[in-house]
Amino acid sequence: DKVIEMTDVWKSYPNNVRAINGINLHIEKGEFVYVVGPSGAGKSTFIKMMYREESPSKGDILIDGVNITKLKHKHIPYIRRKIGVVFQDFKLLPSLTVFENVAFALEVIEESPSVIKRRVMDVLDVVLLKNKARSLPSELSGGEQQRVAIARAIVNNPEVLIADEPTGNLDPDTAWGIMDILDEINHRGTTVIMATHNKDIVNTIKKRVIAIESGRVVRDEVRGSYGYES
Ligand code: ADP
Ligand code: ADP
Repeated sequence: DKVIEMTDVWKSYPNNVRAINGINLHIEKGEFVYVVGPSGAGKSTFIKMMYREESPSKGDILIDGVNITKLKHKHIPYIRRKIGVVFQDFKLLPSLTVFENVAFALEVIEESPSVIKRRVMDVLDVVLLKNKARSLPSELSGGEQQRVAIARAIVNNPEVLIADEPTGNLDPDTAWGIMDILDEINHRGTTVIMATHNKDIVNTIKKRVIAIESGRVVRDEVRGSYGYES
């Protein structure tokens, strides 16, 4: 089953930068995919279009068979339920506790307090942070903050977890810990798509590699390697 399908996708920004130049691909349910390529190649644009942070100038993007390029604004919650996102800089709310940061996404969809409590503690367990539920982000290490961000991204049980350079701000040991968790989430059935510059990780934990250069897919390998010097 395909979870993401892109057909003839192009993206120009208003300043006429042509970030994506004709991408066709699909990603199957349950895959783990690295997105690699030089800075400015279009990796962020490519993944931002999957959760409609950016819209293509041309072409179609289907998430679970639904064409998100044609969705009306009021249907954007559909995408939020299907896709969780984590960023290099975590983007946690600094005045909320770990529990509250993760619960936020469920409160928006008006789940009951008991469901929220159970679900939040379940995902904090997955990221090994149950004992930090009452902490503030500022009291956590970078790796712990990223794990909170991952918990927040999966608390709605999305089909896909997208990670844009999730280890970019972390030291190597901490980065490997994040990979263990992403691997675990993938083994539980979530499709994981990760843009990364981490050569060691890509070359060690072998997965599908999609390489993007100048807005085009230049390489797509089932158990690929990083393929760049650094
Ligand atoms: P990568 O993630 O591989 O570094 P990006 O997708 O961020 O690449 O950028 C691809 C190209 O699009 C670059 O030339 C970048 O400067 C440009 N770009 C990215 N975002 C915007 C934007 N919001 N407005 C204009 N140009 C952008
Ligand atoms: P990322 O980690 O997502 O690649 P960037 O540092 O590339 O972040 O971009 C930060 C923000 O600035 C993003 O929202 C991106 O869309 C925007 N941006 C990136 N390149 C450009 C550009 N050339 N012109 C305008 N906005 C840009």
